Amino acid sequence: MQASMDIARLLRPESLAIVGASEDQSKFGGRLLRMVLRHRFAGPVYPINAKRDTLFDIKAYPDFDALPAVPDMVVLAVPQSSVKGTIEAAASMGIGCGLIITAGFSDAGEAGRKVENEIVSIARAHGMRLIGPNCLGLISAANRLAACSSPVLEIAELPQQPIGLVSQSGALMTTFFDRAWAHGIGFSHGISVGNQADLELADFVEFLADDPDTQVICTYIEGIKDAQRFVAAARRARAAGKPWLAVKAGRTEAGCRAAFSHTASIAGNHAVFAAVCEENGITLMNDLGAMMTLAASMVRYPSSAVNRIAIFTPSGGGGALASDALFERGFSLASFSDITHGVLHEHYAQGQANNPVDFGSRISSDPARAAQDTVAALQADEQTDGIFVPVTMAPFMLTSELVRAQASPFAGNAGKPVLFTVEAGVTSDPLRALLRERGIPYTNTLDEAMNVWTAWRRHAQHQCFEKPRRPDALPSAPEPGTYDEDASKAVFRRYGIPVNAGAIASSADAAVRLAKEIGYPLVMKIASRDIVHKSDIGGVAVGVADEAGVRETFERLCAAARRAMPDARVEGVSVQAQVKGELELIVGARRDAQFGPVVVFGAGGVLVELLAQRAIACAPASNEHIRALLATLPVWRILEGYRGAALAIDKVVDAIARVSWLAADLADRDFELDINPLIVGKHACWAVDARLRIA
Ligand code: ADP
Ligand code: MG
Repeated sequence: MQASMDIARLLRPESLAIVGASEDQSKFGGRLLRMVLRHRFAGPVYPINAKRDTLFDIKAYPDFDALPAVPDMVVLAVPQSSVKGTIEAAASMGIGCGLIITAGFSDAGEAGRKVENEIVSIARAHGMRLIGPNCLGLISAANRLAACSSPVLEIAELPQQPIGLVSQSGALMTTFFDRAWAHGIGFSHGISVGNQADLELADFVEFLADDPDTQVICTYIEGIKDAQRFVAAARRARAAGKPWLAVKAGRTEAGCRAAFSHTASIAGNHAVFAAVCEENGITLMNDLGAMMTLAASMVRYPSSAVNRIAIFTPSGGGGALASDALFERGFSLASFSDITHGVLHEHYAQGQANNPVDFGSRISSDPARAAQDTVAALQADEQTDGIFVPVTMAPFMLTSELVRAQASPFAGNAGKPVLFTVEAGVTSDPLRALLRERGIPYTNTLDEAMNVWTAWRRHAQHQCFEKPRRPDALPSAPEPGTYDEDASKAVFRRYGIPVNAGAIASSADAAVRLAKEIGYPLVMKIASRDIVHKSDIGGVAVGVADEAGVRETFERLCAAARRAMPDARVEGVSVQAQVKGELELIVGARRDAQFGPVVVFGAGGVLVELLAQRAIACAPASNEHIRALLATLPVWRILEGYRGAALAIDKVVDAIARVSWLAADLADRDFELDINPLIVGKHACWAVDARLRIA
């Protein structure tokens, strides 16, 4: 892997050769050459075409040997069968970077993958790096380089703003460039990564993190090639203070399958991916349009807090719907200061001088002044974080004042976040034009606006957690095997995870002896590594109160097991202390195929279905991190003492952290670990059921 300084040089070439160049606009190479020339790439362009002396009035060359100098980059828009030979020639000539548009490699099956690997080996042997294959190319406004054949490039000028885009789909990249450009949003660089045979998404993100022309990084992702590189890129972007926004396909099984058949990338477990993004400051979104709008908003308003929103609208109905939408997304409507109320009373009827501010109900005579005073008051109000302007249909001479007011007196990039939504159709196009002219981001739907606000707030709330510290005196990792409840608890006990007292009895007499040691009431369970769901077969008895009960229960549990699972290996009957708590949690851990060991936790017992939400953290996780995740779950209110005293939160956090260390110790193995339930009381918690399987 090379340093990203090198990648910066690769992605900002000063000269370009295009193999497969022609004038034929039905071909990739024909359109691409025209776009490179149209957008006036500054350096020399060398079209390579054996049959022509000139193409579009510039000199063409028959082959690499004829070139007057070694170009920095070569673009390949040639048939699949000649890619390997061309890369061989280019690499041995010393060209630093190959951009391969051609498809039909790992995207087309095993044979293609083999050729792709060979091409990478050839390039690497000569120190050449590759973008693609199977990509749509590179569009760098910052470098006036449009090495891409897309018809969206027919525009006169590439709009430039400090937003970078890395996309695993070329078509989505150009689709959203087109749409963003229509909203007045420009980009520094757009990179279509294709099959990522050599350079991959993380390389390009690191390039953007270091790039002076980029402040916000946008990505469209289908699958991660290398989890560690991905996380490292996130750290780099974070250290550079550049927000990383990501849309990822494969949130559902259907999406995973589609992503796989598209770029052959495994989408991975989405919940784990989402947790990794959250931990590393990447803001995950579902909506490409909202991602573009948010990126532009972050560039214009680099402010951080986005929670208490003021609505300023020409319509009472628009304000009401916007209030609902914000409230449903968990935002609070800003409550205004007395100063703001004073200003609003000058312009609005009593009772209308509230949030939402209804511009339509003005009573003062000058709409321009009313708009300006309102915006100035909201901008100055310490209890307002951002201003949302859902614009419904009204005469342009009125709605345009809402836009003009934003620029004065807070012109430029200062001030609180402002977002417009223009919901009407073509009649509002003049308003959209005015917004573009002023560089103010807007959406066309309330829903997209909500996606922007929500992601913006999540970005602002990303936390950086302390590095987890290994608790003292942890043992070494347990041996492979399938552990029954008792054996699993023994492992947990060594890791300092609290478990209830108990042991296995192989006879009714032994059970009675154990019962005397432990004390009544007791829980008795069938002990077998083959019986995973004990209560399902009648293998759990709670509230066993005396010696007669122990004897009777012992026989009953053994009989139940014999009846339900005659072949199960039965170790005996577990006799254990019955603990009393207020809440059951579930805590699990396993190895994610991409990101390694993770812990998962949430409400357990009968609440499993009711409060299905789970938190996930990469293992090991710090106590601080686990506590913050717990606090996002609905069950947190119960832990905090909803209707009563708080429960033993510190002990729960410590237990989960220790589970995460056990998971981390098993990092290079396939394993499953389940505690269900962890019973939580006011002063303690206990894992009363446990299971561990290590491959
Ligand atoms: P299963 O294999 O069916 O999951 P568990 O060991 O989890 O069996 O027991 C079923 C339920 O019984 C638990 O969810 C819990 O509510 C209760 N339980 C089990 N062990 C204890 C115990 N030691 N103290 C109190 N309740 C317990
Ligand atoms: Mg259980």
